[in-house]
Amino acid sequence: MSDCIFCKIVAGTIPCNKFYQDDEIIAFHDIHPVAPVHFMLVPKLHLASLADCAPEHAALLGRMLLLAPRLAKEQGLEHGFRTMINTGKGGGQEVLHLHIHVFGGGATIPKI
Ligand code: AMP
Ligand code: ZN
Repeated sequence: MSDCIFCKIVAGTIPCNKFYQDDEIIAFHDIHPVAPVHFMLVPKLHLASLADCAPEHAALLGRMLLLAPRLAKEQGLEHGFRTMINTGKGGGQEVLHLHIHVFGGGATIPKI
């Protein structure tokens, strides 16, 4: 998707603070962190949102979720973290390329 900011990050045409990548997934720090540690897991494949995923994406989604605790620990969130997936306008999604937010650290995180 030529007009997608996360596709541009995946392609390397927009810089980001990336600290992990494999053949299917990248992870980079959020440019506007809401916590001392705040990064995103992003599939290299353009999928607009969770609502656009199909059964064929189950393994990719599973891999992303399994990466979250491993990368969170590596980023210093050894006491736990929060994950968030905003989906569509109703979910407050601003970047229409699927991503999992992972954040935590610092002050106690608000209960929701
Ligand atoms: P969402 O509201 O779930 O779509 O979240 C999009 C997130 O992407 C926001 O938290 C932004 O701060 C973050 N973001 C947007 N552009 C960039 C960028 N170039 N590098 C890193 N994070 C970004
Ligand atoms: Zn994209």
